[in-house]
Amino acid sequence: MAVHSKKDTATTESQSALERNEERFRALIQHSADAIQLLSAEGNILYSSDSIERVLGYKPEEILGAGAAPYLHPDDLPLFLERFTSLLQMPGGQVTLEYRVKHKNGSWAWIEATGSNYLHDPHIQAIVGNFRNITQRKQVEERQRLLNEASEKLVSSLDHQITLQEIVQLLVPSMADYCRIALLDNQQQIKEIVVNHIEPEKIALVRELYEQYKDRASSSHGLQRLLETGQSELIPVVTPEVIAPLAQENPAVLPIIDALDLTSYMGTPLIVHDRVIGAITFSSIQPQRRYTNEDLAFVEELARRIALTLDNARLYQEAQKAIALRDDFISIASHELRTPVTSLKLYVQAVQKQLVRRGEDHLASSFTKMDAQLDKLTLLIRDLLNVSRIELGKLDFQKDLFDLNGVIKETLEQIQPTTSKHAIRIEGKIDQPVWGDKDRIGQALTNLLTNAIKYSPQADTIIVRVTAAQDAAVVSVQDFGIGIEKEHTNHLFDRFYRVNDPEEKTYPGLGIGLYIANEIIKRHDGTLSVESEKGQGSVFSFTLPYKSSTLSPRDVDA
Ligand code: ADP
Repeated sequence: MAVHSKKDTATTESQSALERNEERFRALIQHSADAIQLLSAEGNILYSSDSIERVLGYKPEEILGAGAAPYLHPDDLPLFLERFTSLLQMPGGQVTLEYRVKHKNGSWAWIEATGSNYLHDPHIQAIVGNFRNITQRKQVEERQRLLNEASEKLVSSLDHQITLQEIVQLLVPSMADYCRIALLDNQQQIKEIVVNHIEPEKIALVRELYEQYKDRASSSHGLQRLLETGQSELIPVVTPEVIAPLAQENPAVLPIIDALDLTSYMGTPLIVHDRVIGAITFSSIQPQRRYTNEDLAFVEELARRIALTLDNARLYQEAQKAIALRDDFISIASHELRTPVTSLKLYVQAVQKQLVRRGEDHLASSFTKMDAQLDKLTLLIRDLLNVSRIELGKLDFQKDLFDLNGVIKETLEQIQPTTSKHAIRIEGKIDQPVWGDKDRIGQALTNLLTNAIKYSPQADTIIVRVTAAQDAAVVSVQDFGIGIEKEHTNHLFDRFYRVNDPEEKTYPGLGIGLYIANEIIKRHDGTLSVESEKGQGSVFSFTLPYKSSTLSPRDVDA
């Protein structure tokens, strides 16, 4: 009968405890979320935990003894080697690095690896690597980067032709092996397509494929379908069953699809105000790139930004066109009108003098009225001409010190004869000269006075008040007319703005008088403002600093 000593029993117990511990550690390593590898100083794989299969698809025995370097992405290899070499010089040291490794399924997986140098440790004698697959995080980062870069390109240019080409360039190869953006015209016909393919010689094939089915009334997949339905489409794996309906519609597409090697596809329409204006498609030719719902969400966000930019570009072009149709026309028309009106005025004045001399007073007074109407026409033409000059930044100013009282008096003398109903009265005066263009100030005042007359048909008084504030003269024109509702006062100085209520429609006008007056006062560093109440009349006031900050005698906008 064997007799065990106490010592023997203790040794056996501690041995089995040791084994249990080892088991536990092994299980810990095998089941950890990270994969663990041991590498020799030469970079060969000495051991891989089972979890390597979850991270990179390989079974441990498949890669035992292999070198790590051949699995690395060529772009990341140099940095990996540099860090590995430096780690070899650091016993006990640690290095962390992100790089791409070929997954068993052929795709590139992003890995975050921490290597620790235990070569000197007699129990380990290896570089210990911890690996974590961070492909998903990298994809999110990459999509965000692409969105940011695309957005920058989109806002930096309104020339959409260039921008769209840059966008498809940006998306290949990181998101697609080929990518298209198509735009529709107003008749819902495709007016242009930009294409980029990872292999440039295949761009022609992509175009040819589209040519084959673009005239089909309805298409089961692809660009045409996006344009017709306005719905996104995601085909994670392109199988023969997916292609079958397309081939049935038109057998000619089969060899083209074959040549293109399409493996996965997604696309989404470009939509502005519920209208499909184009579409963007992404295609993969790599078996390992399969588009997912997250990818589609990215494309939809990108499409939203592209559509918005295109709509802005369209609005901008329309506005440019409208300004160029309208302002050129106004400018030319007012120039052309000015000459005949001036000579007409000269003839009218000559005839009027003759009639007075001949004692034909009745006829003469008709010619005086005619002359006053011609003055109104002249002012209107001048305002029209000035509107286009303001738009072009070419309203010129001849600034000097001048007597404001004199300008007010002269303006009144011109305006008073145009109304038989109103008496225009001046209150106050200013004792020092002011700086500015006296003709332009006279023009601003003229516009305020003609409004005061026009918008107070029932009243008989208009007051022009002049007061001296500390730094500026203040001129106000008060009428006792129809007044203005509060909601309009913020817009009165906008170009072409007219108060739109049934009562107002009876007053003729173009909505440019206050716009010009405001521009003139602004260009003198002054401000134009209004106080008014509906039915109570209005007070329009402007300030005119004694000395403007710009003292140049001739102030012409380039
Ligand atoms: P217009 O008189 O040709 O319409 P303005 O630019 O001179 O253009 O004026 C813009 C609008 O402001 C006018 O259409 C009118 O509704 C309002 N307005 C201007 N001056 C007065 C005023 N003195 N009293 C009441 N409304 C005024």
